[in-house]
Amino acid sequence: MKDETKCLHAGYTPKNAEPRVVPIVQSTTYVYDSTADVAAVFDDPTLSLIYSRFANPTVMAVEEKIAALEGGVGAMCTSSGQAASLLSILNLCSAGDSFISLSEIYGGTVNLFAVTLKKLGIECIFIDKNASDEEIHKAFKPNTKAVFGETIANPAITVLDIERFANIAHAHGVPLIVDNTFATPVLCKPIDFGADIVIHSTSKYLDGHAVQVGGVIVDSGNFDWTNGNFPDFCEPDESYHGLIYTEAYGKMAYILKARMQLMRDFGVYPAAHSAFLLNMGLETLAIRMQRYCENAMVVAKYLQNSDKIESITYPGLEGDAGYELGKKYLKGASGVISFVIRGGREAAMKFMDSLELASNEVHVADIRTCVLHPASETHRQLTDEQLVAAGIKAGMVRFSVGLENVEDILADIEKGLAAI
Ligand SMILES: *Cc1c(COP(=O)(O)O)cnc(C)c1O
Repeated sequence: MKDETKCLHAGYTPKNAEPRVVPIVQSTTYVYDSTADVAAVFDDPTLSLIYSRFANPTVMAVEEKIAALEGGVGAMCTSSGQAASLLSILNLCSAGDSFISLSEIYGGTVNLFAVTLKKLGIECIFIDKNASDEEIHKAFKPNTKAVFGETIANPAITVLDIERFANIAHAHGVPLIVDNTFATPVLCKPIDFGADIVIHSTSKYLDGHAVQVGGVIVDSGNFDWTNGNFPDFCEPDESYHGLIYTEAYGKMAYILKARMQLMRDFGVYPAAHSAFLLNMGLETLAIRMQRYCENAMVVAKYLQNSDKIESITYPGLEGDAGYELGKKYLKGASGVISFVIRGGREAAMKFMDSLELASNEVHVADIRTCVLHPASETHRQLTDEQLVAAGIKAGMVRFSVGLENVEDILADIEKGLAAI
């Protein structure tokens, strides 16, 4: 199936006289005939359903759809994108381990990696995407367990050289984790370029309608967990009667370990109703992405020609730093544009406060046009140094182009710029 078809049909195929639409299974638990039946699922929770803290049929239909779209062997939904980032790392790192992350990533992820994981004894080593291979290789330590980056970074809007970082990670026997939130599997399938694990904040384009927060982790099934760096995958798990993930589940070892250990223990699983809503967003993802790209390209070209704009970052524009990488990795440059307004912080805030159609909100990748000022909002907890490392200037605006008629969006921008 092609993406448009997967969006509508993957993950759920009704049998004779069953509901056309994925049913909402609003139940915390599942009934068994005997204690022996329940004991069997405790030994191997993949056999059937036990409890909706870590598996539910509505959520699982969506997991299967997203895995199909990304080209992975399995997926696990989480209650937020933050939970997906957290579990993707905790499934690989324990206290005393480290991992490497590109510095241009989402502000919430910077906090998680630099502050909260540090308190748990896990070190994040940040690297610059423009560092030489030699410098990056030097950043690895014997305890380094993963490399992390974003396909299109939020809010820097730079494009990750996925193949390059996959090769570097693999040379050290560790997986590459890619946050594919801004590209979505419609515009980029990181697994095709060597990524081992893909994560998303589904709160953004996948849901698309700003109705529920969520996340997902997708397993490519390609990484060899028996290479000596990941004993947790190939030694007996005492919390499952000595089960060995690589032996029991082969290619699905990572995603089932995440579900069986981490989701069981942390319980950050979405509700069935949230998954139902996410599924409705996913049904139109392919056609929505196409229009986001078209509208954003028109807006980007308009901004490029304005003398009130100091610089603009949109990988769809020829000459953009991400243009060449975008041609290789992206089927479209997505809907988010970042630009720096002349006059710094004050001018940026004036511009934003003068917009009428575009909403000033802490969101992005919505069906409606929205706008955000990273320096005073999402990234306000970062030091000036961290801001620069994250590719953010004080006058920078993150503009998320929606699906309104593009002429209305341009008229709104014109009003905003005139007010400066
Ligand atoms: C929003 C976002 C997250 C965090 O997701 P939530 O659903 O808000 O928890 C992670 N990564 C990226 C790229 C994001 O844009």
